[in-house]
Amino acid sequence: MTNVKLQMTNDGKLFDIYLAELIEWNKKFNLTAITGPDEIRKRHFEDSLALLSHFSRFTSHCSLIDIGTGAGFPGLPLKIACPEIKLTLVEATKKKIEFLKHIVNVLGLEGVEIIWGRAEDIVKDKREQFDLAVARAVAELRVLVELCLPFVKVGGLFIAYKGAKAKEEIKAATNAIKILGGEEPIRRGGSGSEVSLIIIKKVTKTPPKYPRRPGVAKKRPL
Ligand code: SAH
Repeated sequence: MTNVKLQMTNDGKLFDIYLAELIEWNKKFNLTAITGPDEIRKRHFEDSLALLSHFSRFTSHCSLIDIGTGAGFPGLPLKIACPEIKLTLVEATKKKIEFLKHIVNVLGLEGVEIIWGRAEDIVKDKREQFDLAVARAVAELRVLVELCLPFVKVGGLFIAYKGAKAKEEIKAATNAIKILGGEEPIRRGGSGSEVSLIIIKKVTKTPPKYPRRPGVAKKRPL
């Protein structure tokens, strides 16, 4: 369990609205495989906030990009809990983009940019611009770093939300992380049912030829 509990924040009402809208839209669009209210709170909301157990503060200048955000995870719960962050959500599936636009509007969140497209394509306008990139359940780490690290400023962080296989994924990604400008990863959490966070600091610029065309990172991981 994370030690960030939803009922301890002042944002319970926003999470209640998010929950109700997600359940409603899920009936029509299959946005997420998790459909029960308790599971949504635990696996989507609380797990998304796991990052806050390890980083006690976000500065007001922090720019955060969530790649392959789906129905908004982990980016939107982080924005609800820390309204001052500047958030960019990237998602390839149109119906999920429609939900994201709707929910950001209903929740009255400001400073949220929503981009429809593949990370490999949209990076050309967003290269090395973010303090922090996050991703959950999008790809294995050695593929994910090629999609995410190009967005991060030198000195910034990429944080991958992972499960039980974090250690093995780190090992397999060692080469890719080095090529793409990342430092050796640090792992946080991950005991029992807890989310495992893989934290990678960007130390040098990503060579311009990365990411490769859409799909190539997965087909031929570095
Ligand atoms: N992060 C969310 C969704 C995980 S499902 C969560 O944890 O619940 C993975 C999502 O990533 C899908 O919605 C898929 O459309 C999106 N995705 C996969 N590859 C992508 C890419 N290259 N660029 C942008 N989005 C991508």
